[in-house]
Amino acid sequence: MRIIITGAAGRMGQMLIRAVAQAEGVRLVGATERAGSPAIDQDAGLLVGLEMLNVHVKDHLNLCDEADVLIDFTAPEACLSHAKFVAEHEMAMVIGTTGFDAEQQAELNSILKNTPTVVAANYSVGVNLALSLIEQAAKVLSADYDAEIYEAHHKHKVDAPSGTALAMGKALAAGRDVKLDDVAVYSREGMTGARESGSIGFSVVRGGNIVGDHKAMFIADEERIEINHFASDRMVFAKGAVRAALWLAGQGAGRYDMQDVLGLK
Ligand code: NAD
Repeated sequence: MRIIITGAAGRMGQMLIRAVAQAEGVRLVGATERAGSPAIDQDAGLLVGLEMLNVHVKDHLNLCDEADVLIDFTAPEACLSHAKFVAEHEMAMVIGTTGFDAEQQAELNSILKNTPTVVAANYSVGVNLALSLIEQAAKVLSADYDAEIYEAHHKHKVDAPSGTALAMGKALAAGRDVKLDDVAVYSREGMTGARESGSIGFSVVRGGNIVGDHKAMFIADEERIEINHFASDRMVFAKGAVRAALWLAGQGAGRYDMQDVLGLK
């Protein structure tokens, strides 16, 4: 399977180059970065401390060789333009980028309506298992259990709450048969009043080099249940994204998620 990685010099882009180089059945044929990046024209392998891969980082997808799948962990605007290229060239796409607003999300869905696509806020196997457990817990634990979601990330992260925290919120809301938008409380400051029963609260920490901590809490007067996930190395996301790319080989057009890839549905 021939792969293009966009955002090749980013924190995740570099991990993805390594993951593709290590995995069986996939080959890096293209890598891009934003125009003006110091990575342009560098060899993708040398860029990440591997041996030469003979793939040079370009500032436009038109300059890359033909590929089967594009893996994108960049930023919403960049991802949208990469999605257009994928749709025009009848490739498949794995999207890890987070932080789309509702309008961008709708645009992405429309661009990729005829494209086999995996979209996941988190490509780790552990997080996806946690999402299933949260939905199951929410079905059993009534609104007597106050539900709260906590996440912590490194200081460079630009969106909040994280895509994974939102996915946890959606899983929790699905388990309770409500819509997250109707019950979410994204911030608390000043005279907030007492906690509204059935709401799902979010809290966010940013600092240092935290790769990604997530926690769903179900808090009753007599007991508290917590489902925790700690990521300690970004490689876990990169390996998951490569697994998703390989899985896409047998799939028709449609939008899939990591739960589909892992057979958790
Ligand atoms: P980063 O800022 O380190 O990397 C993004 C890279 O994309 C940068 O190098 C930037 O120059 C490049 N880029 C921007 N515009 C571009 C363009 N038009 N063409 C090519 N490259 C372009 O960020 P990061 O920490 O690697 O995260 C990237 C995204 O992935 C974020 O949205 C983050 O939330 C998400 N993420 C998702 C998962 C997951 O499992 N789904 C895990 C980690 C990060």
